[in-house]
Amino acid sequence: MTQDKLNQMSVSTRELKYVTSGQMTSDGDGVKLVRLIGNRHLDMLDPFLLMDVFSSDEPQDYIGGFPPHPHRGFETVTYMLAGLMRHKDGMGNEGVIGPYDVQWMTAGRGIIHSEMPEQENGLLMGIQLWINLPQKEKMCLPNYQDYSETQIPVDKFGACSSVRVIAGKRQSGITGPVKKTAINPIYMDVSLAQSDTFLQELTGTDNSFLYVIEGEVMVGDSANHLRAGQLGILTHGEQIKVMASTAEARFILLAGTPLNEPVVKGGPFVMNTQEEVAQAFVDFRANRF
Ligand code: FE
Repeated sequence: MTQDKLNQMSVSTRELKYVTSGQMTSDGDGVKLVRLIGNRHLDMLDPFLLMDVFSSDEPQDYIGGFPPHPHRGFETVTYMLAGLMRHKDGMGNEGVIGPYDVQWMTAGRGIIHSEMPEQENGLLMGIQLWINLPQKEKMCLPNYQDYSETQIPVDKFGACSSVRVIAGKRQSGITGPVKKTAINPIYMDVSLAQSDTFLQELTGTDNSFLYVIEGEVMVGDSANHLRAGQLGILTHGEQIKVMASTAEARFILLAGTPLNEPVVKGGPFVMNTQEEVAQAFVDFRANRF
């Protein structure tokens, strides 16, 4: 057996385990979106509590935005692909997130904010994730990590493929700006040409998924297909391997270490017990956020 063959055998490659196109719904003040995680088919993928994709060229689908609302106990991660989102919180922080900018907000003990889309050529597309915090960090002080497009390194590979590295580390050494936390987050936005192969090492037991933004990809050694608008949860394993089955494909890769703690959701509050969720409602009504 050749050394190449041995190397291939020693690394387990992740395969597609579950595919979903999510559920159409609306949230905030009538923003139409697709909920891929956090719906009745897929409650969560520890530590990922929710994933929404909003994408429209019809301003009436999104212009109502998300008026002031609270969060406690987790992080919200907003990644814009088109259009603008104006963010404002109860502590006086305000800013606009544009295409390829990321806002990684740790709500911790509590934040009240609004997220209002603004038109740019009518187009709006963005992805929002809710990532759980471990019990010992749920009541931490709120924190923002805001990264503009230019602060997110691009790792070029193959003939003409590239990865925007938001969180995690590529084999090339290029590392995303998001701080490493208890869940060891990986967030990459991959543009893949048909001739190239995307490989990424992962901790074998971390949970991971892909969401295809454009085109169609083939996942793992079985080369199972995943197309635009679909989210695919992967099996465990030490590496991810993706090829494009269309001339170009674009997808995001998310991975994180499961917290394996009890999860109790109460609207915008995600805690470990019912009592803690009830306390969150009490604190919110008493203006303690
Ligand atoms: Fe929010």
